Amino acid sequence: MAILDVKSRLEYVGDCCYPCPNCGGPAALAVYRLDSRPKVLGLPAARLRRRYLGICSGCGARYSLPEDKGRAMEKGGPVTLFISDISPWE
Ligand SMILES: [Zn+2]
Repeated sequence: MAILDVKSRLEYVGDCCYPCPNCGGPAALAVYRLDSRPKVLGLPAARLRRRYLGICSGCGARYSLPEDKGRAMEKGGPVTLFISDISPWE
């Protein structure tokens, strides 16, 4: 058994229209929620880390979205993304 094991799960949240800075859009940004749950000796060790990943449908560029915007999208609310909201996914 691994001493430290990090499981990640990717879940589709929804689409958001966004002027992609990479391909010049407007393109649909497919948004996914990435949950990482570190485990130590098979037991959950920490609160899971939640990140939101946006993938441009036009060029495939990956962006990191702020957590509050990702949560709002999950709730189905209207979400407006600004250029300042996204950063390259690393
Ligand atoms: Zn793009």
